[in-house]
Amino acid sequence: MNRLRRMMQGRNGSDQFAIALLYFGVILALFGSLLELGYLLILSYVPLIMSIFRTFSKDIASRRRENQDYLTAMAHLKAMVWRKKRSVTGSETHRYYICPYCKQKLRVPKGKGKVAITCPHCGKEFKKKS
Ligand SMILES: [Zn+2]
Repeated sequence: MNRLRRMMQGRNGSDQFAIALLYFGVILALFGSLLELGYLLILSYVPLIMSIFRTFSKDIASRRRENQDYLTAMAHLKAMVWRKKRSVTGSETHRYYICPYCKQKLRVPKGKGKVAITCPHCGKEFKKKS
């Protein structure tokens, strides 16, 4: 245990980005072997090696910056997926429509039956079920 601790001293260790790379590599390897795609199997070594490199890297400042960039990108992606999901399924209380005339996104309360929606952007009216 002490030997392992001494070996990892001054190194980055595993962070969220290294773990994500590890998962990505394993998933690529699984798909590569299940679908018998040799190039995918070989390609899966790239994220795996990157993950090992990150874990044992001594340039901690750079690895921390990369990990922060990864976390920021994932937060943006998550927010984008959430917004897209909400615009497709609507929220608990509202539905979202796009004005057929000016493409403005509109929010309408749910459960009011068929309503005439007046677009606040272009002023034109269209009917939708809420
Ligand atoms: Zn409009």
